[in-house]
Amino acid sequence: MSPEQIHEKQKAFFETRATFNIDYRINALKKLQKTIKASERDIFDALKKDLGKSNYESFLTEVYVILNELDKYIKNTKSYAKPNRVRPSILNFPSTAKIYKEPYGNTLVIAPWNYPFQLALGPVIGAIAAGNTVVLKPSEFVPATSKVLVEIVSESCEADHVSVILGDANVSQKLTALKWDYIFFTGSPKVGKIIYKAAAEHMTPVTLELGGKNPCVIHESANIPVAARRIAWGKFLNAGQTCIAPDYILCHKSVKVEFTEALKKSIIEFYGENPQRSDDYPRIIREEHFENLVGLLKDETVIHGGNHDKDNLYLEPTLVDEPSLNSKVMADEIFGPILPILSYETTEDISNIIKRYPKPLGGYCFTEDKSFASWFIDRFSYGGGVINDSIVQFINERLPFGGVGDGGIGAYHGKKSFETFSHHKSMVHRRTWLDIKIKYPPYNGKLSKIRKMLKWV
Ligand code: NAD
Repeated sequence: MSPEQIHEKQKAFFETRATFNIDYRINALKKLQKTIKASERDIFDALKKDLGKSNYESFLTEVYVILNELDKYIKNTKSYAKPNRVRPSILNFPSTAKIYKEPYGNTLVIAPWNYPFQLALGPVIGAIAAGNTVVLKPSEFVPATSKVLVEIVSESCEADHVSVILGDANVSQKLTALKWDYIFFTGSPKVGKIIYKAAAEHMTPVTLELGGKNPCVIHESANIPVAARRIAWGKFLNAGQTCIAPDYILCHKSVKVEFTEALKKSIIEFYGENPQRSDDYPRIIREEHFENLVGLLKDETVIHGGNHDKDNLYLEPTLVDEPSLNSKVMADEIFGPILPILSYETTEDISNIIKRYPKPLGGYCFTEDKSFASWFIDRFSYGGGVINDSIVQFINERLPFGGVGDGGIGAYHGKKSFETFSHHKSMVHRRTWLDIKIKYPPYNGKLSKIRKMLKWV
């Protein structure tokens, strides 16, 4: 079936109002949960094939995240879907006021390749729970995972309700040319802008989950061994191909040597002297990205790693010392296992560097000094962050996840996903047993009365 045909069928299906039934939504989520549990082996194998991910990493960062989200949604969709009663305005007396959660209708979810299972199904769960139909378009660079996604979705949901459409940017553009009621996009800021423009043609609301150059500050008070371990984990997970991975380090001059040595030690502890032989260290997604990453190392001072193997798309966890701010490695989001380490002396140095870039998706700061932590939270705008760790803001579904500025528009995870995929319809229900005449013309002589009344309310 063509994208247009699927779109038409889903439109007709939404009009049947089957998805307005909460049990229908919950049943679809339960089926999805059952099928995912039964397909865990296939998911692991596919992620190994596409990205060289270990089963441990695939479980923790992909399957578990989705099963946890499904579990919470199966339990909470009924309560999320209930209208919220709010205090009525006295000006509307007598009345009640409620916010109804209405499904948008036909939604489109476009996913990237780096966490191809989790970032595809995460938004789909929110969309289903909120009563929408969904077309999911996974990334063309993860064929094995995309195949498993097709199998899981087609086994769990009616195609008129949820469908997966495979294809590249051309297919994606065909899809975005259609009129959707909501588009949820995860990917690069560059493509995000294309999606935003296409959506604007139809006045379609969007969530854009994008990326950025995430700073990671090491204050002189930081617990250095813990910081090194937590950064090595957050940065080299998925070989650095994580939108919220620390992009570069800003380390206080006085602790830079200690930090760098601790970081090298952690990398070796995690992946051995030769990470290419480690089952736990993933690969770069494809040759073009690999070439770009290796190109970033040209003319830089590599103080750890740097080994690479094109045939195997392997790039060692690599530390770059004091790159110029005008270098290629400091130009854009790195999105790979290369970590530049810059030093600072004053908070002004930190501000000058962070403020060079658009608002990032994540911000990290390692410090034992509470006032410095507060300064880092207040001073800079970024999607979200962590004090004394990296990327773990993602794990708590009670924290909405999303960017600001170039990092994206909107947020999701947990209850926020339901809200994202629902139109909040504000309704006042007035009663008729009383009809206060002061609001009606003629207004002559009523101004002072209304002033007094408004003071009183
Ligand atoms: P991408 O923007 O290249 O592709 C994402 C999706 O968009 C794919 O499905 C692709 O087929 C489609 N696409 C590509 N070109 C298109 C076009 N011209 N028109 C319409 N659709 C098009 O991103 P990617 O390389 O898959 O992922 C890496 C980027 O995603 C990084 O910038 C990263 O920071 C970001 N990212 C963000 C998050 C987040 O949650 N904020 C998560 C993961 C990745």
